[in-house]
Amino acid sequence: MTIAQHKVVTIHYKVSDSDSDELIDSSENGEPMTYLHGARNIIPGLEQALEGKSVGDKLEVMIAPADAYGERSEDRVQQVPIEAFEGMEKVEPGMAVTAQTDQGEINLVIAEVQGETVTVDANHPLAGKSLTFNVTVEEVRDASDEEKAHGHVHGPGGHEHG
Ligand code: ZN
Repeated sequence: MTIAQHKVVTIHYKVSDSDSDELIDSSENGEPMTYLHGARNIIPGLEQALEGKSVGDKLEVMIAPADAYGERSEDRVQQVPIEAFEGMEKVEPGMAVTAQTDQGEINLVIAEVQGETVTVDANHPLAGKSLTFNVTVEEVRDASDEEKAHGHVHGPGGHEHG
């Protein structure tokens, strides 16, 4: 069975920063990842690379930012007064915070603290990075009608409905 639209695919993967070779994430010592193909459960570049592959196939693919987590946008970097963080014990660079906006909740990272001014960055931490994936295809099966309707995988490694 080959990977195509509406197949449930299980992979082991290792992903590193293409420029620095720094390891970002790996499933090697844990559970493999299971996703629904063609439902944008994973980044577009990886989904494309897996199309037509089958169990046992190994691939190494370098994915440009546009097909991964997008380019960094300086519009997503903002300065806010430190009063905005009232109630927080400390405000330090590198901290992840959640902000309420008109568009709902967004995740921010505190980039810099200078006096009363805090610079926050709403870019995805992997935005602007080229990523190298090493992937082994472990399992491919047909998705159930329910999985197709929901757009995600159920059961082990998938979505648990409460
Ligand atoms: Zn579901």
